[in-house]
Amino acid sequence: MNRISIRERIELPKRGFKIINHYCPGMVRTGVLAEAVSAMQPFVSVWISAQIINELSGLRRVETVVLYVVGIVLFNFACYVLKTALKEIFRKKESEMWRWFEKMFADKQMSMDFPDIENAEIQHQHKKLFEHFFMFGYGLPQLVVSTPLLVRVFVNITTSVAMTVSLFVSKTGNALMDNPIWIAILLFFIVLSGYGNYKAVNKTDLLFEKTTRNMAYSNRTFDFFTLRLSQKPEKAMDVRIYDQSGIAEKTIKKFSVFMGGKEEDKYDFLRTLYPALSSLLVGVSNVACYLFVVVKAFLGAFGIGNIVQYVSVLSKFGDGIRELWAMLSDNTLYCRHLKRTFEYLDIPNKMYQGSLTVEKRDDNEYYVEFKNVSFKYPNTDIYALRHVNVKFKVGEKLAVVGMNGSGKTTFIKLLCRLYDPTEGEILLNGVNIKKYDYQEYMSIFSVVFQDFQLFSFILGQNVAASAEYDREKVVACLEKAGFGERLEVMPKGVETSLYKNFDSDGVEISGGEAQKIALARALYKDAPFIILDEPTAALDPVSEYEVYSKFDEIAGDRTAVYISHRLASCRFCDKIAVFHQGEIIQTGSHEELLTDSGGKYYELWNAQAQYYTV
Ligand code: ADP
Repeated sequence: MNRISIRERIELPKRGFKIINHYCPGMVRTGVLAEAVSAMQPFVSVWISAQIINELSGLRRVETVVLYVVGIVLFNFACYVLKTALKEIFRKKESEMWRWFEKMFADKQMSMDFPDIENAEIQHQHKKLFEHFFMFGYGLPQLVVSTPLLVRVFVNITTSVAMTVSLFVSKTGNALMDNPIWIAILLFFIVLSGYGNYKAVNKTDLLFEKTTRNMAYSNRTFDFFTLRLSQKPEKAMDVRIYDQSGIAEKTIKKFSVFMGGKEEDKYDFLRTLYPALSSLLVGVSNVACYLFVVVKAFLGAFGIGNIVQYVSVLSKFGDGIRELWAMLSDNTLYCRHLKRTFEYLDIPNKMYQGSLTVEKRDDNEYYVEFKNVSFKYPNTDIYALRHVNVKFKVGEKLAVVGMNGSGKTTFIKLLCRLYDPTEGEILLNGVNIKKYDYQEYMSIFSVVFQDFQLFSFILGQNVAASAEYDREKVVACLEKAGFGERLEVMPKGVETSLYKNFDSDGVEISGGEAQKIALARALYKDAPFIILDEPTAALDPVSEYEVYSKFDEIAGDRTAVYISHRLASCRFCDKIAVFHQGEIIQTGSHEELLTDSGGKYYELWNAQAQYYTV
């Protein structure tokens, strides 16, 4: 287990506070204040109570006693109101905290280099951290809870020290009882019981963490079988057809043994044993303190009221010391988790460091060039693209065709900078695309990926990809994308919700309709480049014909890169690049390519022609 240095014990929480304060300003402060008030309250009460008893057993002045009684009532009432209000604010902030922390993880995932999103090791790191964070509250959430407790401990210790000074200073006249050695003896008992508590908490924390580590693994499997397989309609259908319930049962049984086996019973036993031993030590230390106070009072060192004060305060002091030790153990645990959290958050962003702004050209005179680009996916030895050379400029319609696995999508992923080329470079207006600010660079592209996502928002928001939208523009884009007729029968027009997740009046749409909406979204963005990855794959032949026959009108003066393995849909493009095993083996217009009867295009065209009458 990696050790946490003293410096880390300071630096890690410091950074943690910064993050918490960024997302939930004032939360820790409110918690600290609430704990401080509730820690101070009993001390003041005990002190006033001691004064009342002393008064009653001494001078018996009625006004003084009344003053103390009114004082104690008012003080407790004020503390109660303040404490409750602060705790309520804290609780509200705390319930919001989880959503902010989820956002923190989502922000990181969205901003990290795309290859890291596909990196199994990093994704495992993310999943583990995420589960520890949200299921067990390790790391930052622990810091939120522990800090106010630390303040309580501080108040307990300092106040009880201040209130017990007189216990040791007051003299009985008996040399043995007045010997300062008693301070050391009582401290020894208290610290020893604290140490026992520390060990117990430390051991039980570690044991619990160990169990949760196993649990996180088995929970993921449960989650997969119980939630993802059974609750997602598209997956649930698969489970029914290829009855996978047997596999699910077997796996769940395997993990059930893992979770409830002998090892866990041992943990349970030890988790009970350690605290029991530590409470025995607490008992011994309390008895020592009581005896000391009672004997001193018996010998006349102080009044009877002070017995109450010293006994309560000494036991609070013991609690404080024990909690301090426990906090030490807590500190080790959350520092270790904070370290892991920061290791994840600090995964460097190597790809998107460019800063050049993309020149906003009124003439839209952009051109893109692939210069001898080769590419291997991370952790693979095979080139997905080899020596790709192609140039296209605004207004051109480029079709990328080829069989499955020939590298078409990879080509687009490089163009969108989801990956950087292994060799060669991609230029925008003669400048390597790495040098541009990533957001700026992406603003000139509209992409409809094959596995695009629509959301359960209203249609207009889906098309505009934002909460606010220009109604007329949304309608125009939907019409261009071939959704016009369907739009007319949508119950609330562009205000109709898609899907039924959030709105029972939502509309379920077919794959083809979804694709048209995705196309409309790409048009709405008004970017000079529009990239369509198999845009017609889910469309029926009539809709497909509609899209590509009107493509010139749809794409307008934008540059369009059109990927398809159906050659018929690409005929209208100015230039067709034929991919084969990662290489561009032919380029030209449809007519030019067809004249080469020995070429791949001719072969593919004839193979597909029998299915399509074109
Ligand atoms: P196409 O779009 O023409 O069907 P792709 O560009 O998706 O082809 O794939 C080209 C090659 O790269 C294929 O051999 C495929 O197996 C491989 N490939 C695609 N995605 C990945 C990935 N994320 N990791 C490793 N290899 C991949």
